[in-house]
Amino acid sequence: MGLWLGLAYGFVEALEACVLGLIPGALAWRNGNSPDILWVAPLFYAVVFLVVAAAFGGLTFPFPRIKWDVPLVFVLICTGAYLAASLQGQVFAPWACGLLGLGLGWQLTRQYGQRRETCSRLMSRTLPHLAAGVLLLGLLTIGAARLQEALALQGLPAPTGDRPNVLLLVIDTLRADHLSGYGYHRATTPCLDRMARHGLLFEQAYANSSWTLPSHASLLTERFVHEHRAGYAGRPFLSRDHPTLAEILQGHGYATAGFVANCFWCGRQTRLDRGFIRYEDFYGSLGDALTRPVLGRKQAYDLQVPARLGWVDIPGRKRAEQVNQDLLDWLDKIQGRPFFAFVNYLDVHGPYLPPPGYAGLYSGDPRAAYRTRKLEIGAAAEAEHLPPADRLQAWVDAYDESLAYVDRQIGVLRDRLQERGLLDKTIIIVTSDHGEGFGEHDMVYHGNSLYREQIHVPLIIRYPEKVPGGVCERRPVGLDRVPATVVDLVGVRTNVFSHPSLVRDPKAAADGLDVVLSEVSYRPHVPRSWPTSRGWVRSLINERWHCLLLEDDTAELYDHRADPHELHNLATSPKYAEIVADFRGQLDRILRQDLAARFGRAVPLLWGELSLFVQGKRHLPRMSPDGALAYRGWAFD
Ligand SMILES: [Zn+2]
Repeated sequence: MGLWLGLAYGFVEALEACVLGLIPGALAWRNGNSPDILWVAPLFYAVVFLVVAAAFGGLTFPFPRIKWDVPLVFVLICTGAYLAASLQGQVFAPWACGLLGLGLGWQLTRQYGQRRETCSRLMSRTLPHLAAGVLLLGLLTIGAARLQEALALQGLPAPTGDRPNVLLLVIDTLRADHLSGYGYHRATTPCLDRMARHGLLFEQAYANSSWTLPSHASLLTERFVHEHRAGYAGRPFLSRDHPTLAEILQGHGYATAGFVANCFWCGRQTRLDRGFIRYEDFYGSLGDALTRPVLGRKQAYDLQVPARLGWVDIPGRKRAEQVNQDLLDWLDKIQGRPFFAFVNYLDVHGPYLPPPGYAGLYSGDPRAAYRTRKLEIGAAAEAEHLPPADRLQAWVDAYDESLAYVDRQIGVLRDRLQERGLLDKTIIIVTSDHGEGFGEHDMVYHGNSLYREQIHVPLIIRYPEKVPGGVCERRPVGLDRVPATVVDLVGVRTNVFSHPSLVRDPKAAADGLDVVLSEVSYRPHVPRSWPTSRGWVRSLINERWHCLLLEDDTAELYDHRADPHELHNLATSPKYAEIVADFRGQLDRILRQDLAARFGRAVPLLWGELSLFVQGKRHLPRMSPDGALAYRGWAFD
């Protein structure tokens, strides 16, 4: 009975996950999934429910007169209904899911109690069919994915000319000033430093946002956050409005693939997989597979069961070594086609847990990073109150040790590419999607603001055929220029990407701007101390100034050349009022351009925003304390 109920409920949950997966934004953060859930969930619940049934079965020995099947059915149906109702996570509150579970459990158990014999016969008869269904779905899911990929590769247009390959390596959460090549006091990145000696290093590269989804969306589409809107509250995905680099390159005969370790905000539920023929995100390990069904997810994240038992890492976190192996396996299968591979490494992201061989490299204590009893994915819980200095230092040590590991793995990948004769035929771009705070500006983690430690990232381009080696470019550049740089280097003509190429003209600015624009939108459910909990933050950087403009109309101004750690806010001094006003004017022009592009003509800001709202593309404008529409902040989502 436990087996039957487990298989049956597994199908229900799998179907629910698949249907929700078709609706943009319905799945986000931890509950992303892929069609593999169709066979994983029934299998998972069959085992779990069987264990519960065995426990109930054991009770028949001390209490042989009680009909234990009835309470078993009640417990399993309650559990299943509760889990199914809480899959999406935002529709029903936990207490509502619990009530629903109890109600359904009560009703169905009553029905079962009245027809026990019939139900038991039906279960026995249909159990083999259910088991066969799991097997069939497993084969179909895996087979269909392979067939789809083979057909997509076959259907690619023949590439014209001798196109180079493109390898985009994103080391998630890597702040530039922790690389030895960027002046860090520890020798964290000898392999990347070596790559920079054969390539072009951008000393001042800035991500267009300070957290994963919006930043990757800009990196792959060139569009700024206020244009693509991925990561707005209520929009945890990239819409179809803007073509991606992968789509453009696939259209020119490139085999495309994404290998992402950050399944939270790069998984297919974010729609960043658009244009990739293969996308490896979920089910890369047993640990990940166990957290895709709701019950496993709740155990791992809500109840923190593995962490309490000493396993404090993200369940199934893919290490760089595995990500690289997946990439190399795929390269060996595409038979010499030009490729575009996007790789996202999660090794330096919190929880900072360097692998064996690297743990203790700087702290001197290999167990230091593992002395915790909870899963600190983003250390967000600590963000309200800054941890003590020794704990912060322990985080920095572990972060650096993890970086040394990723650097070594990138060195190994470079060697593997060389062995395959691919190294010099491949444009390698190494960067990150955002930085990380370790107590600067009284904050840790990322996505909380746009200070330099949040957005200053490494950027190295290696392609000896067209990119000069050992060159360091000092002018600030934004990652939004990467797509145009790639199509420029591979020789693809397209009018989709209009920002100037970083290689052809590093000194040019995007969209005629002489600033680098970064943005982070209002974020609900983050600590109140974070500026993003109160509304938008926008950052404009030029060669000397870094201006932060907040939704509440406050501004901060830093002379980042003289004050790289941004300790002295000059915006409070009337002496700099004109500079701040100039940045405000530039931001205003940028946002007006966006609206003009959407409507085909210049439109008043408020009118444009309200029209978008009427069309259902924006949420209600927020009211500022004085009752006026807070249109300047674009905090409408
Ligand atoms: Zn990230």
